[in-house]
Amino acid sequence: MSAPGHLPYRGRFAPSPTGPLHYGSLVSALASWLDARAHGGAWLVRIEDIDGPRTVPGAAQDILATLERFGFHADEPPVWQSARIDRYRAALDELLATGHVYPCGCTRKEIADSQLHAHQRNTTLIYPGTCRNGLHGKRARAWRLRVPDDAPPGAAVIRFDDRWQGPQSQNLATDVGDFVLLRADGQWAYQLAVVVDDAEQGITHVVRGADLLDSTARQIWLQRCLGVPSPTYLHVPVVTNDDGEKLSKQTGAQALDGVRPLDALVAAARHLGLELRDPAPATLKAFHADAIDAWRRRLAQLPPVMG
Ligand code: GLU
Repeated sequence: MSAPGHLPYRGRFAPSPTGPLHYGSLVSALASWLDARAHGGAWLVRIEDIDGPRTVPGAAQDILATLERFGFHADEPPVWQSARIDRYRAALDELLATGHVYPCGCTRKEIADSQLHAHQRNTTLIYPGTCRNGLHGKRARAWRLRVPDDAPPGAAVIRFDDRWQGPQSQNLATDVGDFVLLRADGQWAYQLAVVVDDAEQGITHVVRGADLLDSTARQIWLQRCLGVPSPTYLHVPVVTNDDGEKLSKQTGAQALDGVRPLDALVAAARHLGLELRDPAPATLKAFHADAIDAWRRRLAQLPPVMG
């Protein structure tokens, strides 16, 4: 993976406005902000509001206001994915022209049935490649990105060094399969939008929750297909509830509305394993300075990554 260390640091926080900022997303916001500030870099905010059915009206404004209240001031105006659909369309057209993308006419049921026949017991459906060489008279429903063939075995493995989690690898052919970039319901897939936007915004460092670790190999493959550089990645541990589920609106995460920012920030810093010199800071400014130093010390404790 090319580590764009020679470029000026540009990081981002990219919330989906499916509800107000909660403690779990605060941890990601804090980590991305601290890493940018610790590197003297720029920190941007991107509102990932292309998933129409999941987007909650007013949630984006609510998130932006909460970020301000917590002292996270973005260096550029926020970017809204809903205003960038033409960019995703252009990227898909380019991928179609270069043969990386093909139309697929399979229904979810057909894909599920094909897996049963193959005696596969995966919980996620791996597309068997039925429409790779044509629609066989079916109507195009979705557009899929070809992943590399795993021949010779291992050829489809994508490797990268996560700055927090260490060396990672995923076999795109056996673990993922050709994946959808434009869905049957007309919605643009997160994977395409995030790659197009990170590239066009010149993002050099992605810092986010470890629930997205599993998406990273797909994003690196897409970057290669589009001929854009790969940022470096750092995935912080996600916050879970008492049942071990990732904290989200669906799993009952509380909004941060009524919470004193400093209390929530100190708790988030603790979740990241930061050793603050002052555990009860009096001001946001004092917390920020202390947390940036603690982040630097935390990074120094992580095993060094290669490349
Ligand atoms: N919008 C995604 C989320 O809220 C994060 C995307 C990213 O950081 O790459 O889960």
